Amino acid sequence: MSARLRVDFIACEGRGLCAEALPELIALDDWGYPIVSSRLIPPRLLPDARETVRACPLLALRLERSGQLRSRRANKIPPAAAITVTAASTETAPVSHSPWASGSLPSTR
Ligand code: SF4
Repeated sequence: MSARLRVDFIACEGRGLCAEALPELIALDDWGYPIVSSRLIPPRLLPDARETVRACPLLALRLERSGQLRSRRANKIPPAAAITVTAASTETAPVSHSPWASGSLPSTR
């Protein structure tokens, strides 16, 4: 299995336990938040990476398999900058150029 480490920075409180447990792949920034390597985890470090993920007290660290990355890229959501909405007024309805507004995406209803 090839995988990378990912941090949920919303959940992480930057206490640095992961960097102590896995200094080969995780450093800390000036505020104590982890900086994880974006490279694939070498096979020899995978067991330690799994244990470090399990040890994170806030479940903020996870392993992302490289196949999951490809899948997310294939289903790429258009960037927010691609969505244009005109100013709403009482006379004209907002106009959107997003694929959701044109009905090209399946409805969830
Ligand atoms: S162990 Fe978890 S909560 Fe602590 S710094 Fe690392 S990712 Fe954040």
